[in-house]
Amino acid sequence: MRIAVVGTGYVGLVTGTCLAETGNNVICVDINEQKVAQMQQAIVPFYEPDLEGIFKRNIAQGRLTFTSDLESAIDASTIVFLALPTPPNEDGSADLSYVLNTAENIGKCLKSFKIIVNKSTVPVGTADQVREMVARHSKHPFEVVSNPEFLREGVAVMDFMKPNRIIVGTHSEEVKKVFSELYAPYMRQGERLIFMDERSAELTKYAANAFLATKISFMNEISVLCEELGANVEMIRKGIGTDDRIGKQFLYAGIGYGGSCFPKDVQALSKTATDIDSKVNIVEAVIKTNTQQRERFFHKISDFFGGNLKGKRIALWGLAFKPETDDLREAPSLFLIDKFLAEGATVAAYDPVAMDSTRKQIGDRITYASNQYDALNGADALVIVTEWQAFRNPDFDIMAQKLTNKVIFDGRNLYDLNRMEERGFYYNSVGRKTIL
Ligand code: NAD
Repeated sequence: MRIAVVGTGYVGLVTGTCLAETGNNVICVDINEQKVAQMQQAIVPFYEPDLEGIFKRNIAQGRLTFTSDLESAIDASTIVFLALPTPPNEDGSADLSYVLNTAENIGKCLKSFKIIVNKSTVPVGTADQVREMVARHSKHPFEVVSNPEFLREGVAVMDFMKPNRIIVGTHSEEVKKVFSELYAPYMRQGERLIFMDERSAELTKYAANAFLATKISFMNEISVLCEELGANVEMIRKGIGTDDRIGKQFLYAGIGYGGSCFPKDVQALSKTATDIDSKVNIVEAVIKTNTQQRERFFHKISDFFGGNLKGKRIALWGLAFKPETDDLREAPSLFLIDKFLAEGATVAAYDPVAMDSTRKQIGDRITYASNQYDALNGADALVIVTEWQAFRNPDFDIMAQKLTNKVIFDGRNLYDLNRMEERGFYYNSVGRKTIL
């Protein structure tokens, strides 16, 4: 099939590359010409494991090309995926300007039948708005499909190649046939392809993210009880996760969810409800708990130093909002860095892949260490923010030598409590007793 993908971020580039991998001809369009030039030289513009190999292979085989010219890409394709940003507006609603402006431009250059597919996360009713916008500028026939994306950064290629499910919102029997064929290579079982109406498809994405965020906030709330009552949240996680009705995943207490999706999508769902004079009490509580969890973690650190962080040197392990990505959007690290600096502390950070993106965003307000141990030189405390594999089994002897105080605040519960006691560290984690 001949496909255009508009927007080459984490979703668009993975979608385009993985669609090319099964034999389709894919043209990826991006407004960022520098990024397009990079991709034309077969350079992946961001960090995503397993992407580079198939990206390069499909470029070499001529199935994956790049342009900043929307019209030529539309002309050359039958299916047009939109994988555009939908960042939050000030009021929490999703900013649809990228999607609707592109719909307008597509309408202006439509010369024959196209299937326009929205992969961005958008509020209910957006497919209708896209349809109206394109129709306003074109007399040619077209379909608008809602096909929300569920891939996770860090395992995006695997998620696309072997999805748990694919949601396709459409009323068109013709589109159903095309999508059954398009997605057949990614499914061993056809029931993973779920057709529904566009509105349900749009809401499914928000419901999924809000539900996952709910699991996280729920466990974070339990972790606070654990700390107050002398229980261990890791035991609670194991104890309830073995119940199939609850499931093992997303039960990890920590410092709250971040990233490019959960915070904005949960907010947007709440705004959707407000706009129709409805109330999503659980969703609102999830947001509140998430904010409190971050603040609570910061206050633990601040309290340890008697409420005075002035002149303290903080080592930070992890900047990305989760492992295996360089994405910093809504990362808890940024919240903590702001707080530490505002209180007069200095921060030395290390992250295996997200230091360049951090430097781009916050410049030299912090120092960047060349490895995880150098970040500890003369530090008054180590704060662990991202659960990178390399932090799971570090050399505690080197850590003890480099840190001024053997003090660790672990927002990801990476270490065994008994072992930390034996090693003689002050070790403060989430929802577990503090080792003094
Ligand atoms: P992103 O910010 O990584 O990428 C967006 C890309 O679109 C950028 O390369 C940007 O230059 C490009 N762009 C902006 N305006 C454009 C225009 N007019 N024409 C062409 N290109 C343009 O975004 P993302 O993380 O890939 O997310 C895209 C959408 O998918 C969002 O709605 C997001 O909520 C949703 N989503 C994201 C993820 C994720 O893990 N990142 C997962 C599922 C769904």
